[in-house]
Amino acid sequence: MSDCLFCKIIAGEIPSSKVYEDDLCYAFHDISPQAPTHFLVVPKEHIQSVSAVNDENARIVGHIFAVIAKLADELGFAGPGYRVVSNIGQAGQQTVPHLHFHVLAGRDMTWPPG
Ligand code: 5GP
Ligand code: ZN
Repeated sequence: MSDCLFCKIIAGEIPSSKVYEDDLCYAFHDISPQAPTHFLVVPKEHIQSVSAVNDENARIVGHIFAVIAKLADELGFAGPGYRVVSNIGQAGQQTVPHLHFHVLAGRDMTWPPG
């Protein structure tokens, strides 16, 4: 999608700090980290949010979770634990309308979220 911020990041038109990349997804550090480790994992295909996940594209979401689990092992935060968050729509405080999973680690999280 030509006017989508994350599509531009995936295409390399806007610089980002890469954590991981494969054919289906791209992971990069959040520009405004909310934890010592905070990166985003996005599908390369433009999907608006979790609300747009369906039987045709759900395979990508499953793949993204497998990637997150692998990165958590490799980066050493699987043991202590971490949080995966996806904000959806206006009430969910989604600011970029391209599906993304926040991966937050390196501190104790609080609950409930704000
Ligand atoms: P949302 O609020 O939609 O759940 O999350 C969007 C996230 O994208 C925010 O945490 C925000 O800091 C991050 N973000 C916004 N613009 C950029 C950018 O240009 N580069 C990077 N790396 N992250 C961004
Ligand atoms: Zn997009």
